[in-house]
Amino acid sequence: MLKTALKLLEKIEEHGFKAYLVGGYVRDYLLNIDSSDIDVTTNATPMDIKAIFQEAALPHEDYGSITVMIKNVRFEITTFRREITYYNNRKPIEIEYIDDLLEDLKRRDFTINTLCMNKKGEVLDLLNGKQDIEDKVIRTVGNSYLKFSEDTLRILRAVRFATNLNFELSNEVKHAILATKHLLKNLSYERKRQELDKIFTSKYVKRGISLLQELGLDKELELTKLSQVTIYDDLIGIWAILDVSDRYPFTVNEKELMRKIHEAIPLNNLDPQVLYQYGLYVNSIAGSTKGIDKKEITKAYNALPIHSRSDIDITSQEIMTALNQKPGPFLRKVYKDLIKQLLMGKLSNQKESLLHYCIQTYKEIV
Ligand code: ATP
Repeated sequence: MLKTALKLLEKIEEHGFKAYLVGGYVRDYLLNIDSSDIDVTTNATPMDIKAIFQEAALPHEDYGSITVMIKNVRFEITTFRREITYYNNRKPIEIEYIDDLLEDLKRRDFTINTLCMNKKGEVLDLLNGKQDIEDKVIRTVGNSYLKFSEDTLRILRAVRFATNLNFELSNEVKHAILATKHLLKNLSYERKRQELDKIFTSKYVKRGISLLQELGLDKELELTKLSQVTIYDDLIGIWAILDVSDRYPFTVNEKELMRKIHEAIPLNNLDPQVLYQYGLYVNSIAGSTKGIDKKEITKAYNALPIHSRSDIDITSQEIMTALNQKPGPFLRKVYKDLIKQLLMGKLSNQKESLLHYCIQTYKEIV
């Protein structure tokens, strides 16, 4: 990946421009963490980049940024810029292309995200990012209060980086978050969810949750049930427990899963009927809110005599023949009762016993 990236820088420079790898890739490179995409900063405009890379440049352009795909590596190439006006504490609505790397780095959020690498693979550290990586601290580039007021997404990015990298927030960053967190109401729920997802799937999720609480962001983000989260390895499980406002975006499947978890929370998650109906996953999450160990739930689930209708040792055809009936709604009732009897341990899952039970019990419908 690095070799491809350095070649890309060389190619841009051959055309008379300056170009550097910047941000997350260089930060993670120094921390020995794998990155999936690479940001490049350059004084070439997207038009210049298109002319250089032609079909490798994707057609979509955004705010002076263009994507180039080479050998399956995704390069986000952004022109040096100064951000002039921000709208509603978020995206700049006015930018100005500039020719100066340092100026471009100053518009960035945190010092650890300002490190660059040139085409020779040398790391350029113009804003003391290396020291902050060594000290494991998140510091803004310049005044934290201004950075967060300009763009409130940075508040969540600060918590996200502190969580994922297991870094501390500098005192200035903490104070500025406390002073600006009310502006998070202007941030879209899509963006909030994206950042929170990254915190909730982090190896250090517990720490992320305590940071959100310590900074009072749980209230600003409407995550008032954060203290009830005791499972840390399941994203949708965490969201379900949080029981957040409908304004957070979820897919139809996610919503359905969360609905089931809510239904299962007031129930006895070790009861065979509940285990059968809601399954292992939903019961484990619901049980975790009441301190029931996942192992205990798994053991009870594995001990169920059946896990689905297809486990019952009798077919619909056999039931119909035994009762001398044509297909009809009665079959559903029969199955419902068989499942209940099997789960209560009142019936053994063997064809003869099941047939015998059907004939005895359902005589009236014959
Ligand atoms: P990751 O890829 O792990 O999310 P990253 O640092 O690469 O981390 P990106 O969102 O890809 O994050 O952004 C690339 C770079 O752009 C950042 O390193 C930072 O320098 C700058 N940047 C991104 N978002 C902002 C922002 N909201 N405010 C200021 N600078 C930003």
